[in-house]
Amino acid sequence: METINDIRVRFAPSPTGLLHLGGVRTALFNYLFAKKYNGTFILRIEDTDRTRFDENSVENLISSLCRLGLDYDEGPYKEGDSKPYFQSERLDMYHKHAKQLIDNGQAYYCFCTKDELDDMRKKQEIAKETTKYDGRCKNLSDTEIQAKLEAKIPFVVRMKIPSDTVFDFEDLVRGNVQIASDLVEDQVILKADGFPTYHLAAVIDDHYMRISHVLRGEEWLYSTPKHLFLYQAFGWSPPIWVHLPLLLNTDRSKLSKRHGDFSVSTYLDAGYPKEAVINFVALLGWHSADDRELFSLGELIQEFSLERITKSAAIFDITKLEWMSGWYIRSLPLQEVAHKCRVYFEKEGIDIHDEVKYLKVISRARDQINKLPDITLHAKMFYTETPLNQECSEIVQQDISQKVLTWFVKALQEGEEPMDKEAIQILVSKCSAELGIKGKALYFPLRIALFGDCHGPDIPLLIDLYGKQESLSRLHKHIL
Ligand code: GLU
Repeated sequence: METINDIRVRFAPSPTGLLHLGGVRTALFNYLFAKKYNGTFILRIEDTDRTRFDENSVENLISSLCRLGLDYDEGPYKEGDSKPYFQSERLDMYHKHAKQLIDNGQAYYCFCTKDELDDMRKKQEIAKETTKYDGRCKNLSDTEIQAKLEAKIPFVVRMKIPSDTVFDFEDLVRGNVQIASDLVEDQVILKADGFPTYHLAAVIDDHYMRISHVLRGEEWLYSTPKHLFLYQAFGWSPPIWVHLPLLLNTDRSKLSKRHGDFSVSTYLDAGYPKEAVINFVALLGWHSADDRELFSLGELIQEFSLERITKSAAIFDITKLEWMSGWYIRSLPLQEVAHKCRVYFEKEGIDIHDEVKYLKVISRARDQINKLPDITLHAKMFYTETPLNQECSEIVQQDISQKVLTWFVKALQEGEEPMDKEAIQILVSKCSAELGIKGKALYFPLRIALFGDCHGPDIPLLIDLYGKQESLSRLHKHIL
């Protein structure tokens, strides 16, 4: 295996809502890359936007990662030499660095009011110019600045982007990227509330947390020049950038909350196995060497490679998750699926204490579902006695039916245990031969008595599933 040393990557969500599948994709790719090379996967909470901060979000982010089995090595509530992992607890560091940039002439105070900024934007829009801060505070004199600071006029700090230069950087997915500095705004780095913006905080943290590779969504590609500017201003070497392709809906529109609730906890709560969610998300912008589709987490770690992250947007087709989910339900160890399903039976008050029968029921019913809670729909008929409809009750009362039932009860009682499906099939054939009855006349009464309907599962399957005692009791009830 190819080795890369000292991999340190981070998933750095802003706690503004529930963790959605797009966020899981970023977390997963970072996780896979770290695990593949024995690196470190860090969770950092970027909580510097106090207006959008959502208290429940942090808990949801951490519990969702945990439910998916994407355990982080360093992060909130864990030890690690880069703590704290909440940006709101690192403010001193950001202030110190912002001050350093101001002192070096690479950042400046801006005292513009919201009205001034709105007005500036409107004029630029009318003049069909790029809307960006026009730098009017860039050249304030020291005395002017001092006077405004003393007068306690609210301010922000902006980076001083040089004009007439080109930001030139490599991205592992996009290749060489060049962006003219004229297109890059003098971005705010410290806000009026004393909190840094994402740009300043992320760069400082990535540096001090010794992040080797930054894997994040493509929407951040155009922020990268600002980050490069900061790295250069501080005299630090930047990490390797890896921008993950955009996620689009099947109609190629941009994936957004408006298209539905894509929070991962919603999917897990709805009964999609975590294995299916991980597998589905792994293929959003990455493919294996042989285009195989189904992978466990362990296999993904083996197979993952940054070189196979795609440039083109990934299509978010939720029907594929349905399909994968069904596949996992059928492929996971039976005991595990049975265990996961227990809760749904309990919810419906279905008595599943007979473990042998329960496993057989699950083994059959799991073939018919794509998500776990649907299991009871395909299983509860094996735990109830369905009242017969008119047609069935007439059939079962016929003499010929009674003959079949009587013969079968006797044979079953005398039959040796354990009786597998094959042995039961032999019994069915023997019944047919001895009584000279076949086809519907043979199967219908047995199925009606055992299952409550003419149509349904095969007789051997039913008897095997109920076991001898329950089968006898069901058959007995219909003997007149
Ligand atoms: N806090 C940013 C986000 O929520 C992180 C971007 C990055 O990874 O640099 O997407």
